[in-house]
Amino acid sequence: MEEEYYKVTAEETIKQFETDRNEGLSTQTVDERFAESGPNEIQQGEKTSPWKLLWNNINDIIVYLLLAAAVISFLMDDLAETIAILLALLLAVLTGFFTELKAQKSVESLQSMIYTTTTVIRDGKTQTIEATKVVPGDILLLREGDAVAADGRIISSNNFACIESALTGESEAVEKSEDEIYEEEIPLGDQKNMVFAGTAVTRGYAYIVVTETGMQTEVGKISGMLDEESNDKTPLDVELDKLSKAIILAAFIAGVAVLIAGLLTDKPFVEMIHISIILAVAAIPEAMPAVETITLSKGMRTMAERKALVKTLPAVETLGATSVIASDKTGTLTENQMMASELILSDETHYEVTGEGYDPNGVIKKDGEEIDPQNNKELLHFIRSGVLCNTAHIDQNEDGEYEVVGDPTDGALVTLGKKVGLDRQELEKDGFEKVAEVPFSSENKYMIVVYEKDGERELIIKGAFDVILNLADQTQKVKEDLKEQNEMFAEKGQRVIAIASIAGYDGGLSEEELESSLAGLKIQGLVGIIDPPRPDAYESIENAQNAGIKVKMITGDHPKTASIIAKDIGLADYEKIMTGKEIDEQVDSEDFARIVDETAVFARVSPENKMQIVTALKEESEVVSMTGDGVNDAPALNDANIGVAMGVRGTEVAKEASDMILTDDRFGTIVDAVEEGRIIFDNIKKYVSFLFACNMVEIVAIFASVVFLLPMPIAPLHILFLNLIIDIAPAMSLSYEPAEENVMARGPRSKKDSLVNRHFLTRIVFSGVIIGLSAFAIFWILLSGEQSGEYLQTAVFTFMAIAQLMHIFNVRKTNSFGLDRSLFQNKVLVGSILLSVALQLVAVYVPVMNDLLGTEPLRPITWVIILVGAVLSTVIVGIFNKIKYHH
Ligand code: ADP
Ligand code: MG
Repeated sequence: MEEEYYKVTAEETIKQFETDRNEGLSTQTVDERFAESGPNEIQQGEKTSPWKLLWNNINDIIVYLLLAAAVISFLMDDLAETIAILLALLLAVLTGFFTELKAQKSVESLQSMIYTTTTVIRDGKTQTIEATKVVPGDILLLREGDAVAADGRIISSNNFACIESALTGESEAVEKSEDEIYEEEIPLGDQKNMVFAGTAVTRGYAYIVVTETGMQTEVGKISGMLDEESNDKTPLDVELDKLSKAIILAAFIAGVAVLIAGLLTDKPFVEMIHISIILAVAAIPEAMPAVETITLSKGMRTMAERKALVKTLPAVETLGATSVIASDKTGTLTENQMMASELILSDETHYEVTGEGYDPNGVIKKDGEEIDPQNNKELLHFIRSGVLCNTAHIDQNEDGEYEVVGDPTDGALVTLGKKVGLDRQELEKDGFEKVAEVPFSSENKYMIVVYEKDGERELIIKGAFDVILNLADQTQKVKEDLKEQNEMFAEKGQRVIAIASIAGYDGGLSEEELESSLAGLKIQGLVGIIDPPRPDAYESIENAQNAGIKVKMITGDHPKTASIIAKDIGLADYEKIMTGKEIDEQVDSEDFARIVDETAVFARVSPENKMQIVTALKEESEVVSMTGDGVNDAPALNDANIGVAMGVRGTEVAKEASDMILTDDRFGTIVDAVEEGRIIFDNIKKYVSFLFACNMVEIVAIFASVVFLLPMPIAPLHILFLNLIIDIAPAMSLSYEPAEENVMARGPRSKKDSLVNRHFLTRIVFSGVIIGLSAFAIFWILLSGEQSGEYLQTAVFTFMAIAQLMHIFNVRKTNSFGLDRSLFQNKVLVGSILLSVALQLVAVYVPVMNDLLGTEPLRPITWVIILVGAVLSTVIVGIFNKIKYHH
């Protein structure tokens, strides 16, 4: 159905889709339509199918090298080796395939926990469903903060506007309503009676009938056209690639040396080629991609258990590098349990309010004495204004707790009203009728309503004190006094709401008219609202700061209020404050980025300021995690290295724009996730260091033998056995390593300090060379005896297995030797080391394996040499690490 619904009425559209504006579709129709239209989602490129994954594992240089090795073995008439190589090949492909498949499944199941929801009317009931389940003909209710789930025609609306920048590039909100009908062909941006998938509702609400879903939507058509292959190489992938290339180059050089040495000593050419290929096999870190995927996906799962839903694997890694957390104050650092605790009227009478949170039990006191508000007309009028200029309700949940539905600040005023017996619904029953409204926005920082009763109108505006003060029409004296009162409230860390009104308002009722006809506006008084910090905020901030992470607080509140709370929760540099106005003034200055980086508290900020803060921090090379919940936060969330959305309070739009969603809205959860990210990065470093050192060992030993024109110290199959059987399980187990004690006691890893830095490389090369030369030394010592070539190779092979396993202790701790009690916290590692030892014994002592691998049982004296050599080399590497670490 390619129709232009903006040219017809809402009724006609509803009719065409055989739906009903009040009842919606029936479940049965929905099922039928879903079968026809498919899920409402944009298919982004091809999903990696199992077959594709398998092919990726087969189509790999290691496989080709192994195949070549097998062919050569076959040509050399070594059937046992040919079979063994083929088995190794199969093993490599299958482990790679299955581990990646499992990791992919796990990532997918975690990702499926994150979905956008939308409100739909079906079978006459309003319900919340996953956005992917929407079908053409569905009636959706779209409210402020919702992501528009599908294309649709507006049926009815109230003060409704959308941001369509994703589709049209236009960054201003577009006002929309059902009324308009167009005759001509017009571009999307002008179709005011339509809404489009991928856009967001910034204000008001609307009912729409869905006209297109999934790839049929406008945004679907665009992305269908683009449908580019997504490049999902993470920064880590890139670095590991570099490392792999370096080691393969080393192997290549060694290979060429082998060839030359072979020619000089008249060894058969085929054999030399064979050895070169084996060198290549020795160099390639077969297990690396699989181990990396497992580690990151495991990390993603752990984070989800700790209430942080991370959307992608790269984000897991980036989190660990976070150097700044810029967090909203309200609701993330505080409880969002707003309570009006003090009132001051414009005649300077001061009242205290008792009670807790949104519980309506509480009284008004003056000078410590309870008063009867019913005798105080001024006070009642003031509180009534707060109740009327309001959009929230208070509900009781199943546990009997009072909860706010809507804006918490408004909720505080609803509760205040209840304490003196005022209720919006009751007032409306009594004849108060709302005739106009300008909703609260973080840009304006105020809300306006006009109420009419008995033919008389009253305009009420409430909002941030400084904003209202500027609009007010009062004497300088009154203004000065109120200013002082405001300071006093702010000094106590209270959020201040000023309430002002115009009695007998007779201006226009449109938004512009309301905002421009405020002559005669009188401030009635101020409300001081407390919002206690979350109980764990102090500790979480302390943890973050100890970990060298700068914490920055962002709020729309007064700078004083913000700073007091910042001090309360232990924010370092809480006196370094910047206001939104200062940001606007200084944004073009040269020092702007540096100043922002040094500021701890941002007050009176607008969503646009948030974006400027992110940009500045990134300019200062910070890795920024930034929280947000509103539609207008989406650009900042997108731009931050890690955009963090609130799972409970956040809008669907913020959730879509984020990289991580906190299911408990808690600041501490971000810090937990960062810690987890650091542990993961540490562990990745550990097994990378382990696997590459092991590969070096083999190259060094072979290379040394070639230099001294000696026979091969180890057979190709042994190398395969080491790389594909002995090393893999312990390497994977390193990703289960528990946190090191200092994980949150050291600074964040610098962005410039990549995984593959000098220090890290030196460690790998040094370990590889020491253990490799030890292997060569053992070969040399045994060479003087009468043993067969097989026996010698078995000894070197076994030495490598043991020394490599011992090397684990040198990589499992960053700054100490890893053979301590903490080893038993990682049972998987202990198990896999034991398993590897057992497998090595099987390789040496089981007759079938002797035939297959060309090994011979070792005598005890050889074991003594092997063990002494392994311990010695481990100790030398350990000492080197210690020295290196302290420099
Ligand atoms: P935050 O991001 O910290 O929640 P906001 O931008 O929501 O800050 O609020 C900024 C200021 O706007 C507050 O200090 C308060 O004075 C005023 N304000 C907040 N909520 C409302 C509301 N619902 N109605 C009117 N004014 C409000
Ligand atoms: Mg707010």
